[in-house]
Amino acid sequence: MKVHNVEMIMSAVRPEQYPTEGYPEFALAGRSNVGKSSFINKMIGRKSLARTSSKPGKTQTLNFYKIEEKLFFVDVPGYGYAKVSKTEKEKWGGMIEQYITSREELRAVVQIVDLRHPPTKDDCMMHDFLSHYNIPTIVIATKADKIPKGKWEKHKKIVRTTFNMEIHEPLILFSSEKGMGMDEAWREIESRM
Ligand code: GDP
Repeated sequence: MKVHNVEMIMSAVRPEQYPTEGYPEFALAGRSNVGKSSFINKMIGRKSLARTSSKPGKTQTLNFYKIEEKLFFVDVPGYGYAKVSKTEKEKWGGMIEQYITSREELRAVVQIVDLRHPPTKDDCMMHDFLSHYNIPTIVIATKADKIPKGKWEKHKKIVRTTFNMEIHEPLILFSSEKGMGMDEAWREIESRM
């Protein structure tokens, strides 16, 4: 999809604040600093609408991006930031869990991981949580430009096995730097609208 029109709707912490348009929603989840904002910005063709976080773990709201009056990207606060207090973590968990397990408009969670490293414990917890609730998941392995092409397959395989992914579950190599993987990611999203 070529994106012309994006509107940053609001930051929500409670269900009453979620948008009411009824458009399909795609939530973006990832460890702090994994490249989630860069992914969003690349996909919507903006330089910095989604803020690239200088302070990991800072965003504690759900941010809705309305795209072309068709769908929403829902930016979920980054997980797995050690310095966040226990209370903050619990608040995070509660809000995300509520959204992910009860939001009718949610079509899939786009989980962003770093292709360079095996998924972390936090990544696995998130992935297990999504499979437990049967939430369709699109895994994006980003920062592919930081790895030589000859090693992509090997790293992909590590992500697949660490996550116990089934063959039909999509895993897309991505690079926000190079724009790689964009068409494939949009195809995957649009096929679920
Ligand atoms: P967030 O905390 O998950 O939103 O992560 P950011 O999008 O702010 O990215 C964290 C850092 O990784 C920034 O310095 C980005 O420039 C860098 N980064 C993100 N995606 C890529 C990518 O695809 N390739 C490269 N080389 N760097 C990236």
